[in-house]
Amino acid sequence: MYDFKGKTALVTGAARGIGRAIALELARGGASLALNDVNEAAAKEAVELAEKEGAPKAKFYKFDVADSAACNAAIDSVLTDFGGLHILVNNAGISIDALVMRFKDEDWKKTLDINLTGAFNLMRAATRPMMKQRSGAIVNIASVVGETGNAGQAAYSASKGALIALTKTVARELASRSIRVNAVAPGFIDTPMTQALPEAAKAKLAEAIPLARLGTAQDIADCVAWLASDKASYVTGGVIRVNGGMYM
Ligand code: NAP
Repeated sequence: MYDFKGKTALVTGAARGIGRAIALELARGGASLALNDVNEAAAKEAVELAEKEGAPKAKFYKFDVADSAACNAAIDSVLTDFGGLHILVNNAGISIDALVMRFKDEDWKKTLDINLTGAFNLMRAATRPMMKQRSGAIVNIASVVGETGNAGQAAYSASKGALIALTKTVARELASRSIRVNAVAPGFIDTPMTQALPEAAKAKLAEAIPLARLGTAQDIADCVAWLASDKASYVTGGVIRVNGGMYM
C-alpha cells in the first residue's frame, strides 16, 4: 500500500483491464482520480469502484487520446476540477494485427495515433503544470513486444518500441524538475484485450513463460503504483519488465 493522499492521478484507458486495475490500486493509496476512456459505461463503473476503494474524488473524462486538442482541454479540466496533477499513467492502447505485407494504411496510422501520439499529447500537456509544481510521476504502459518485436504486430510493436524511446527522452528533459518518467513493459496479461484468444493458444503462450502463467492486471498495477510513488523517487527513464520472465 502506497501513500497517494493529496495527489491527483490521470489514468487513460481506465474503464477496464490494466487501466482499471491501476486506477483502483492508486485509489487504495488515497489518490484522487481522473479516469479517461472512450468506453463510457465501463468507465462509470470504474469511477464508482475507485470511490469505494478509497479515492476521495473520482471523475470520468471521455476523450480520445489521439486527439491533441482534446488532451490539452482534458488536462486544463483536471487542473480546474482537482487543483493539480501529480501522476499521469498513459495506458490507453489498441492492437490491430496483420502481417506487414497486408497491413492497411489506416490501421497503421490508428495504432500509432493512439498508442504513441496519445502518450505524447498528454505528456506535452501535463509538462507545464508538473514543471510549475516541480514534481510529478509519469508512467507509460509499453509492451514486451516493444523490445522483442512480434510477427503479425508491426504497428503495435513499433508503437510500443517508440513509446519506450519517448519515455527515456522525456525522462531526460524533465529530470531537473524532479519529474520522473518510466515505462512498464507487460508480458502476456489476462485482460479483455487477450481474452479473445482460444484457450489452446493461451496455454501454448503460457508454456513460453518461465513463471508458467499469464500475468494479471494487478501484477501491472502493483508495479505502476510503485513507480508512481515516492518509494521510486530515484527511478527515472526505466523500463520495468513485468512479464513472468518471458523476455529477460
Ligand atoms: P483493454 O482491455 O483493451 O483496455 C484498454 C482500454 O482503453 C479500453 O477501455 C479501451 O476502450 C480504451 N481505449 C482504446 N482506445 C482509446 C482511446 N483512443 N482513448 C482513450 N481510451 C481508449 O486493454 P488492456 O489489455 O488492459 O491494455 C492496456 C494497456 O496495456 C495497453 O496500452 C496495451 O497495449 C498494454 N499491454 C497489454 C498487454 C496484455 O497482454 N493485455 C500486454 C502488454 C501491454 P474500448 O473498450 O472502447 O476499446
